[in-house]
Amino acid sequence: MKTIYSIVFFLLSHTLVSAQIEDYGLPYREGKSHFQKMTTYNNNPNTTQYDLKYQRLEATLDPAVNFISGSVTSHFLPNATLSSIYFDFTTQLNVSSVSYHGTNLAFSQLPTKELKIDFPTAISAGTLDSLTVHYSGIPDPSNNAFAVHSQSGIPVMSTLSEPYGAQDWFPTKQSMNDKIDRFDFKITTPSTYSVAANGKLMSETIIGTNKLTFWRTQYPTAAYLIAFSITNFTKINDVMGNPPFPFVNYLYPTTAANPSIMADIEWTKQIMNTYENLFGPYPFRNEKYGHMEFGYNGVCMEHQTMSSMSGWPRRVIAHELAHQWFGDKITCGAWNDLWLNEGFATFGEHVANEQFLMTHSEFMNYLQGQKNFITYATGGSVYVNDADLGNQSVLFSGRLTYAKGGYVVRMMKWILGDVVFYQAIKDYMSRPNLAYAYAKTIDLKTSLLQSTGKDFTEFFNQWIYGQGYPTYDIQWKQSTDLQSISFKVGQSQSHPSVAFYTLPLPIKLNGSNGEVAHIVLDHQSNNQMFTIPTTFAVSSVEFNVEHQILEKNSTVQMNANLSTQNSLIQEDLQIYPNPADTVIWIKGLNKETDFVITFATGQQVQKGRVEPHRSISVSHLEKGVYWLELQNKRFKFIKR
Ligand SMILES: [Zn+2]
Repeated sequence: MKTIYSIVFFLLSHTLVSAQIEDYGLPYREGKSHFQKMTTYNNNPNTTQYDLKYQRLEATLDPAVNFISGSVTSHFLPNATLSSIYFDFTTQLNVSSVSYHGTNLAFSQLPTKELKIDFPTAISAGTLDSLTVHYSGIPDPSNNAFAVHSQSGIPVMSTLSEPYGAQDWFPTKQSMNDKIDRFDFKITTPSTYSVAANGKLMSETIIGTNKLTFWRTQYPTAAYLIAFSITNFTKINDVMGNPPFPFVNYLYPTTAANPSIMADIEWTKQIMNTYENLFGPYPFRNEKYGHMEFGYNGVCMEHQTMSSMSGWPRRVIAHELAHQWFGDKITCGAWNDLWLNEGFATFGEHVANEQFLMTHSEFMNYLQGQKNFITYATGGSVYVNDADLGNQSVLFSGRLTYAKGGYVVRMMKWILGDVVFYQAIKDYMSRPNLAYAYAKTIDLKTSLLQSTGKDFTEFFNQWIYGQGYPTYDIQWKQSTDLQSISFKVGQSQSHPSVAFYTLPLPIKLNGSNGEVAHIVLDHQSNNQMFTIPTTFAVSSVEFNVEHQILEKNSTVQMNANLSTQNSLIQEDLQIYPNPADTVIWIKGLNKETDFVITFATGQQVQKGRVEPHRSISVSHLEKGVYWLELQNKRFKFIKR
């Protein structure tokens, strides 16, 4: 399965239009066939003058009929004097009236996909107000954000708005800077059907032959993550997590009757526990997590609190669940930064594969497959340029936004080490300015610096904004007394946008008698020389055996003629950051070493061992001046 996945993925990826939403192998690689441009992709300047606090969709929907009729009530808080208000809204649906405090307002539906509504007297800043838009029609079939399909001969009506399709079925604010703080659905359908949606089920009321279903979410939600699905669902109410919260599945009857799929759905509980340990608490514990099936074959989508599914591979279940943190709790602040959603969700697949779904050697094959896929072309950036925001195959590039984005996260974990990395991710998830809001790449960078003291500016320039990958030429020679091994490390780049990739290189030394040592070379310049002490006769050297970093066609060779003249026994050591908040890093350290931290008075407060490329935690130290001693050197630092 994996091999097929990797090879097919690799061979066909450049001919296929990548999936609208999820990109996870051939059977699930279909997406929307059409992709219509919206006038502004990230922020509509006409909607910046208010904060959208609440929306309520009240609609009558028969899943057998592709038609919507209803109203949306919006509560908004102006931040400037408002004489008119704009919503993002299609011209395909007809607005019949806009009611406001018992009167009707003048409005116009603009070809720019905006609904402009004029107030009789301007509303002043800071005054919470509301209005209701009544509308009906057949949603634009070319955009396919709202569609009718069928399962076992039964109609399914469902929505799929990412990236720009919310406006195709309700008047809203699509800008990537203002989540809708609360959202209610009140949907009337023929009573044989059930409605699945975001949030908590508040009530289902039978009214004659109809059923009124009321869902409410009180978590801020980006417009593209608002969704519903309607059919003759089998509803399964369960719990997950510790302490438990609701786990709600709305499944086609044929799915609910399939024991193998039900086992896959049950497995969601295990990956939930793992993600809660690694990323922090599930973000929507007060409401639920769940799945609703929908009619978009080959696509799955991380609708907030209720992922929409058309298939059940466990890696896809894992991918959508990871999105609840990366994409939903923290949403990319511009579509250019979509890797913050998709790269991290792909990293969630790495975690699921490594911990549950694969043996170690299968996981290594998977990573090799990802590397092959990412590097089959020499260029392309993870960051999406403005000119490509309307191009679905670039925006949702399986190779760049997903696979390379996921590999960038894996490299961040390698650079920081698991403990520091996952703590930094938890910190990122709980920053007050980012949680339940939006983040761009620069916000992640700032958060990482704050958590770890490590500046990822160069790293993101190389791996997110820059293109391509490095190829290494590693030559080595052990000294005749077997006391040291020397390396010369050259690097070439596949693309001129990056002059040099600065990375710690994972090296494995194998001894003649089965000894193994792992060392790290802090590669800062081309043809850099390193000399490392050794304790056994080295018979072979391996590079990047766990695929910690992205590279291609690298070579490792023993070179008996390697000149070690220019090599340093130990690079000069530096510590940073200084002052330090939580951790101290030692630049230039290339072997595990003892350290001692003392007060300025000389009294010892901490001692231990530190490995290359790992930090020393100082978070427990009182504020003040300290000395760090290692390898006969002393460094003064300030803990703040
Ligand atoms: Zn995704």
